[in-house]
Amino acid sequence: MKKFDPATNIQAIDMKDAQRGVNPSICDSATFMFEKAKTMTDTFHGETEGYFLYSRHWNPSTLALCKALAAMEGTELAWTTGSGMAAITVALLHEVKAGDHILSSMTTYGGTFAFLNNYIKKFGVEVDFVNMQDLDAVKKAIKPNTKVLYTETMNNPLLRIANIPELSKIAHANGAKLLVDNTFTPMIFSPYQLGADVVIYSMTKYVNGMNDCVAGAICGTADYINSLINVNDGTAMLLGPVLDPMRSASIQKNLHTLHIRMKQHSANAMYLAKRFKETGIKYNYPGLPEHVDHELFTEMMNEGFGYGGMISIDMGTADRASAIMEKMQELGVGYLAVSLGYFKTLFSNSGKSTSSEVPEDIQKEMGMSEGLIRFSVGLDNDPERTFQLIKQAIEATK
Ligand SMILES: *Cc1c(COP(=O)(O)O)cnc(C)c1O
Repeated sequence: MKKFDPATNIQAIDMKDAQRGVNPSICDSATFMFEKAKTMTDTFHGETEGYFLYSRHWNPSTLALCKALAAMEGTELAWTTGSGMAAITVALLHEVKAGDHILSSMTTYGGTFAFLNNYIKKFGVEVDFVNMQDLDAVKKAIKPNTKVLYTETMNNPLLRIANIPELSKIAHANGAKLLVDNTFTPMIFSPYQLGADVVIYSMTKYVNGMNDCVAGAICGTADYINSLINVNDGTAMLLGPVLDPMRSASIQKNLHTLHIRMKQHSANAMYLAKRFKETGIKYNYPGLPEHVDHELFTEMMNEGFGYGGMISIDMGTADRASAIMEKMQELGVGYLAVSLGYFKTLFSNSGKSTSSEVPEDIQKEMGMSEGLIRFSVGLDNDPERTFQLIKQAIEATK
């Protein structure tokens, strides 16, 4: 296990503002004034410390959140966006030009898959999808023009784990960068510490955890982040998907409870996994030794945050899954809704929702059953009650 403690890194940050308020104040300004014209010119060229120019570039409130995120990942810097998809598309577009090649995991978030499979190709970028669990297949699929290896640390909905240290070696040996979406497993994994070049989040999920906003983040070296926001050719600066400072401030406050939430999400999911196992319900959870990637997970994880809050059960058919989900909602297990990382339990049928952009033949190749119900387990205080309600829903629909 790696000795890296993202939670303590966040806790160590001095958050006080200029008036000694304990939370960073919200800087409600789009533009910033200068006493001297020369300072403005220098700031434009990125040559002044402590000056802000315009909030599409930096804003003090978003910078405070970015510093906290960088502390969490152990990167030099971070940049926040108005959605996870904005973070993903900006990070990918920044690395490639026409004629370049992106090698992506076959199992990515549906929107990412759609962007890579249907959208980015119109700019003359080649994309191939590969089973990231098969390192030999990855090596074979690398081409001389491969610039990016793209994967999620934990994939959806099968909860397979990417071998970040090995993928990093493969990418770097071929002059490519490894970009990792760590949305499902903040704190649990620190991909940059494991060799990734760039770490991406949809903060909509666990990082914020309140389901009250959509937001994203990109973490990396200072040179890299500064190149993203370069006024002449920075993808983030030019496409402009900036996060609002008011939202930055609210996300930053939630970030300070992320470690406690992750521990509880993980503990509750582990509880359900054990009860599903005892009861003979077909389940999938990387925290138990039966999961194919349990060992790899354990080798890569930071200590103390558990095996995550995502768990799935296989109910065979889509109709059966639908009936069970409706019954679970009626009984109060949580909501039939997409998304994850919320304090209430959310569930959905992956094949018909969050992975519906993935063609059915690829779903089959991934090993996805049409009756798969994915749970994002909430912060329930009594997980035995949750289990009993799920069991009741399963039995009621037999
Ligand atoms: C939700 C999600 C995204 C997209 O993020 P948005 O904030 O909805 O734009 C990307 N990757 C993963 C793994 C996600 O779960």
